[in-house]
Amino acid sequence: MEVRVRFAPSPTGFFHIGGARTALFNWLYARHRGGKFILRIEDTDLERNIREATDVILDGMRWLGMDWDEGPEVGGDCGPYFQSQRNAVYDEYLEILRRKDCVYERDGAIFFRVSQEPQLIDDLIRGPVYRREEKDFVLYRSNGTPVFHFVNVVDDIAMKISHVIRGEDHLSNSSKHVELFRALGATVPKFAHIPLILKTNGSGKMSKRDKGALVEDYRGHQFLPEALRNYLCLLGWSPKDNREIMPIEEVIRLFDLCDVNKNNARFDDEKLSHMNAIYVKNMPLDRFLERGKILLSGIDADKDYLEKVLAICQEKLRSFEELKHFVSYFFAEDLEYDAELCSTLKRYDPVARIGEFLGEVESVTDFSEANLERIIGELGKKHGLRARDYIHTLRFALSGRTVGPSFYKMVGVMGRERVRKRLSRALEKGASQW
Ligand code: GLU
Repeated sequence: MEVRVRFAPSPTGFFHIGGARTALFNWLYARHRGGKFILRIEDTDLERNIREATDVILDGMRWLGMDWDEGPEVGGDCGPYFQSQRNAVYDEYLEILRRKDCVYERDGAIFFRVSQEPQLIDDLIRGPVYRREEKDFVLYRSNGTPVFHFVNVVDDIAMKISHVIRGEDHLSNSSKHVELFRALGATVPKFAHIPLILKTNGSGKMSKRDKGALVEDYRGHQFLPEALRNYLCLLGWSPKDNREIMPIEEVIRLFDLCDVNKNNARFDDEKLSHMNAIYVKNMPLDRFLERGKILLSGIDADKDYLEKVLAICQEKLRSFEELKHFVSYFFAEDLEYDAELCSTLKRYDPVARIGEFLGEVESVTDFSEANLERIIGELGKKHGLRARDYIHTLRFALSGRTVGPSFYKMVGVMGRERVRKRLSRALEKGASQW
């Protein structure tokens, strides 16, 4: 049997993290099984601007690297893929139910006659679940529009969906859906209801108002889509060996519905930021430079210097959000020194340390990491100090900070002239406190 799964969002104007994860699990499953991933827009109830609201979802999916085999913009044999354009299909299926006497009219609405038998929902994540529908339910409202349960099931039949993978909030609808599949004489698909995503503090379901709840929040240049996608893969699924950073090809190879966790997943924005940092550190330098330059576009600096600064900062950066601040001192000559930090450095006798290093800089032309390391090492030996003592003091004098990229790389990139100027100015500025 060919695996055909679908993501069936209602275009509400937002692309919620929960929706993105549902799309992702469908996509992973389709790719894992060599099946088809279908995108269907469930827009029957909506009056708002559907095109724009759909674009939010399509753009978000493309940004996250999820391609669909059938659906808006790509077409396919089972189209159209917007429910608002499928009324003829729904009418046809309603006829089948009419012929079987499964529907009746009341107050202008069309009701489905339920069997009242317990329905088996064969759920690949939760195991078999039995539910019974006691009351007949509406298929068409009195204004003639079909309701979600009906169009959802009809389309799953018409689009030959083999597995319905969706949020657990739909589990309670599934007995209605199974009744409809049966009444329409169709094979009931396998179900997989994915547990909810809870807020970071565990107090209920993530809503669109929660920070970081929308895919749109991560777009722009601050966040890497691979990092968010990797994080979403782990929201309810794991490779069972504690691995977290995984190339998507590896996730596709391992992903299976039976390994999806039954328990609710908790959204952990710190973990997500941490993963993003790892992806930032490991991204190819040319992509890092390209993005870094966009984020620093207001800075007036020589291209070569800017690129060198970016290159040495990549490994220490935690997010693109902090990039501008992280590198700002490279481009500002008149540094401010925090008085409190100044006084904590007193114990290294900064005036002496800076003076000693400046003395060396006068005669040194080789600013390579190795040579700088040798110089500091020799100064340390000569004065009975540790290399660390020089590094702390000099880093502070050169950058006004206590953390940053590798010290030797920083000095190398700043170059002799800049280093000399900064150290002399630091001596003037800090002299009163040191
Ligand atoms: N349109 C429904 C939703 O957005 C889809 C339900 C389903 O996947 O069956 O929740």
